[in-house]
Amino acid sequence: MPTRNVVILGSGCAGLTAALYCARAGLQPLVIEGREAGGQLSLTTLVENFPGFPAGIQGPQLIENMREQAAAFGAEFASGDVVGAKLGARPIELELDEGGTEPLRTQALIIASGARARWLGLPSEQALIGHGVSSCATCDGFFFRGKDIIVVGGGDSAMEEALFLTRFASSVTVVHRRDEFRASKIMLDRAREHEKIRWIPNARITEVMDVAKKEVTGVKLESTDGAAKRWEMPIAAVFLGIGHVPNTQPFVGQLATDADGYLVTRDYVHTQIEGVYACGDVQDRRYRQAITAAGTGCMAAIEVERFLAEG
Ligand code: NAP
Repeated sequence: MPTRNVVILGSGCAGLTAALYCARAGLQPLVIEGREAGGQLSLTTLVENFPGFPAGIQGPQLIENMREQAAAFGAEFASGDVVGAKLGARPIELELDEGGTEPLRTQALIIASGARARWLGLPSEQALIGHGVSSCATCDGFFFRGKDIIVVGGGDSAMEEALFLTRFASSVTVVHRRDEFRASKIMLDRAREHEKIRWIPNARITEVMDVAKKEVTGVKLESTDGAAKRWEMPIAAVFLGIGHVPNTQPFVGQLATDADGYLVTRDYVHTQIEGVYACGDVQDRRYRQAITAAGTGCMAAIEVERFLAEG
């Protein structure tokens, strides 16, 4: 396999923007799509805050448009994921989970591998994933038509999930561990105004039932405000909206991360290894928006262009 100019890991907003810029610079980038092709936008519904779409645009459509645009300029795509990397080697070597035993070699690498959903970490929750426990309302909400559903979390993701699930559920109860919410005012107000949405602040789930039946029948809750209250609530599904964890597994030990696992970058997108850049949610714990991911994807591509031109 010939050495590539640049490989981009990830096919969300950051990766596809990097692919567009690299392709237009004539670098024939190869995009490794990653396990969750299309990234988080492909799991969302209406995106109202990406400039240029006055009526909003569906997340999967926005991603499809970006992919088409990058492909039109010569970006190539491969399914699968990077499972190992020698970032110090020249050229850089990448081990893929799909494809032969020969490593993929590239002069430059853009890591745009994004972040995956965070779970509570309860054994009962893990046992019931796919059986009423989910982190993707747009994927699984449909199965709970006419049912009572819980959404966990107090950020924009939780509000978005709760609002989306009102299309199917007879009620959506937001369970949040505090009584203050991180969600933006507009999202919180929308959720608060919705007649189907109920609220349990200052509480956490301690168990999802019923593992033996392989189906969600209810949850055990406890208060977090010192009231030492414990109770049970019948429910048909639990959706997690408690944030994300950056996807950095193949690079652990080779690239610096902060305490929560985000790749540390300087000058926006530079990692500490020359020729290796990071953009989007894998390195941005502060903004985490589609438009900022696209912005850093653009920056990473321009840095790759300069790096390759300097030889
Ligand atoms: P987030 O803002 O980090 O919020 C995560 C929420 O989950 C917080 O309320 C947090 O509680 C709670 N949480 C975290 N770990 C928990 C645990 N182990 N148990 C119980 N609760 C837990 O994450 P996000 O909502 O995914 O949003 C991430 C970024 O994407 C934000 O910048 C957001 O604006 C953006 N976003 C935007 C939109 C939109 O504009 N349409 C939609 C989705 C996301 P605490 O508050 O107590 O820490």
